[in-house]
Amino acid sequence: MSTAKFVEVHVDDVVRLRKAHPCGGTDWTVVRLGADIGLRCERCQHRVLLPRSLFERRLKAFLSRAVAVDPSVDAG
Ligand SMILES: [Zn+2]
Repeated sequence: MSTAKFVEVHVDDVVRLRKAHPCGGTDWTVVRLGADIGLRCERCQHRVLLPRSLFERRLKAFLSRAVAVDPSVDAG
């Protein structure tokens, strides 16, 4: 049904997720890439690991890009 779309993400990107951290923060800095995405809460500095699939589902917006991304690719 849905086409698999690979979300391009880099260390030091700042993202907003749909689900807020218990501290109330919704903005996270990417600190690690791999099968799991390492994120640091911008509000309380707590670190979490999310499987990439879950990260992509929760991703709402990129607030800051560490690396310039081709907008035509980013728009999907
Ligand atoms: Zn937090």
